[in-house]
Amino acid sequence: MSLQTEEIYRTLLQNSADAVVVTDVDGLVTSTNPSFAKLVGDDTTNIVGSQITSFVDWHSHDDADVRLGHTSDKSDDEHGNDEPKPVTVLTRSGAEFIMPASRFPLKDEKTGTAWGFLTIIYVIQANSLQQAQTEFVSTVSHELRTPLTSIKGFADTILRAGDRLDVAQQRRYVGIIKDQADRLTRLVEDILAVSRLESKKLQLTIRAIDPREAIERVQQNLTDKAKNHKVIVNSANSLTPVWADADRLEQILTNLIDNAIKYSPAGTTVTITARGLERATANDAEMVEFAISDEGVGIPEEHLPQVFSKFGRLDNPLVRQTEGTGLGLYITRSLCLALGGQISVSSQPGNTTFTVKLPAATLEMQAARGRG
Ligand code: ADP
Repeated sequence: MSLQTEEIYRTLLQNSADAVVVTDVDGLVTSTNPSFAKLVGDDTTNIVGSQITSFVDWHSHDDADVRLGHTSDKSDDEHGNDEPKPVTVLTRSGAEFIMPASRFPLKDEKTGTAWGFLTIIYVIQANSLQQAQTEFVSTVSHELRTPLTSIKGFADTILRAGDRLDVAQQRRYVGIIKDQADRLTRLVEDILAVSRLESKKLQLTIRAIDPREAIERVQQNLTDKAKNHKVIVNSANSLTPVWADADRLEQILTNLIDNAIKYSPAGTTVTITARGLERATANDAEMVEFAISDEGVGIPEEHLPQVFSKFGRLDNPLVRQTEGTGLGLYITRSLCLALGGQISVSSQPGNTTFTVKLPAATLEMQAARGRG
């Protein structure tokens, strides 16, 4: 390596916000950078010569497949593209942090034998994950506290002043408690759905589904909610099936139709359209499109991106009157992406349309799965 290149690497290492440690094959630290020293709360001079295991615990997480010593998956190492895995970083103060890290073998170019390992602990990524998690926890706590406060308040009133309340008042207060408990249940269910989606633990059973049947099932489930609206379904008699998970497809359609009903006045029409889309080029996948339109309040253009974010409820009279967690469209969008599809929205007062495109179950696709 030329002196200049060496200088570049040294400067990079010294100034990197991510923590870097080089060890020999026995795990003894041979060099490290200021970020690592800062992270573990010690001087670089003290760290050099120590065992890396006194700072980094690779095996404390089930899925922490970060290997110490010889590696089992050659191709990963050869390409140096190990996905970061969570490790526990043990600091001198006794505090422990779980952070993403990768470990790369350092090999002799000629013989191919490893002479050491380079470990990177991704401080920047860990900080932004931590921040997103903290924000989520604080929003969730706030969202949970609102119904809890109301449940506690009305229960207290009934307990303290029960005899002085007439039957109608008592029924009204118990009714509020029940509504708020229902809201809490919805929140917890949605938060669990978000957590499953984000931890990628979503189990999908993909098969060919008739779009009209899926729409009919959702319509049946929403009969009660839709009783003050006119719901129209527009679709060709023979439609290409969708290549999706039946429950998730129903969840997507339920969320969108439920919103169309919630955010449009009674007496207006909700239109559900399903159609097959032509391939734009031979390389494009064939798609099926579902469009759900309503004649409601609409979404101002500047707020359109916000509706797909977590807890993204807009402030307008219909939103204030309706129950919602603000997680529905976030979940819907994540499900569309998980199924290999996409979702978009266009809106103006009196007309909002959410459009979902999902892969069509073409004969090739079904045959590829051995079901053709
Ligand atoms: P919520 O539980 O509040 O319905 P969603 O994530 O489903 O949460 O929707 C987020 C926000 O997007 C809603 O609170 C509402 O402000 C807006 N929104 C969703 N669908 C519509 C629609 N069809 N018309 C107008 N606004 C909508």
